[in-house]
Amino acid sequence: MDFHVHSRFSVDCETDAEEMVLSAVEKGLKGIVITDHVDFNPLDPGCGKYDYDSAKAEIERLKAAFPQISIGFGAEVDYSRLWRDEVAETVVGRTWDVVVGAVHSVNGIPLELRKAYEGAGIEAAITGYFREVGAMVEDDMFDIVAHVDIIKRYLERLGFRWSRECLLNEAGPAVERIASGGRYLEVNTSGLRQEAAECFPGVELLAVYRNAGGQKLVMGSDAHRSSDVAAGFAEAAAAVVRAGYRGRAVADSLILS
Ligand SMILES: [Zn+2]
Ligand SMILES: [Zn+2]
Repeated sequence: MDFHVHSRFSVDCETDAEEMVLSAVEKGLKGIVITDHVDFNPLDPGCGKYDYDSAKAEIERLKAAFPQISIGFGAEVDYSRLWRDEVAETVVGRTWDVVVGAVHSVNGIPLELRKAYEGAGIEAAITGYFREVGAMVEDDMFDIVAHVDIIKRYLERLGFRWSRECLLNEAGPAVERIASGGRYLEVNTSGLRQEAAECFPGVELLAVYRNAGGQKLVMGSDAHRSSDVAAGFAEAAAAVVRAGYRGRAVADSLILS
């Protein structure tokens, strides 16, 4: 089951949702959740572009057309305390099968921009990012926390020197809260295809989640093209085992209507 893929309803993706579903069928998955971006950051090109009605109609059509696979109508909702009221209104007023929460900014500045790290410095950016993740978890509006330490992607991509110890220290409390709140933690495999060369989160944070009693993991490829559906799932499963999990910790049974 792949809980995190995009389609044409995301501004950064040109693949039809049907192609994603066909890829999931070909790969023998039990299910796939189409989680297009719902953006609120005025600095993000996707801000205000998500078309809920069209996305819902298309996913409903696919559910009827492909009864052999479980298809979820999901959303990847961009969270920040700066626009949390808009997020709350959106999440309450719409009906998705699965809502994935994600932080993509620090102090409202997208993580991919160098200016998110200038001024106060790298450690302050890491602290600020995980403070936002912690606030999102406290707010408790989402089923799944996506790519919890994705700031690694941008620290690597922008060529910064950063401390893994700092990242783990700052991330730990947020990850523990995901576990104690009973929310799902996503093992996002996009990092395996990129500079970070490991999942989001890495093995150490998976172990933090496990030690805090977390038993709800889902896999998400974050695919933006059909060939990446379920990519890296075997490596992710190995990371889950390295983090100390035994048996079936990885859920493929989030309720899909
Ligand atoms: Zn994301
Ligand atoms: Zn995504």
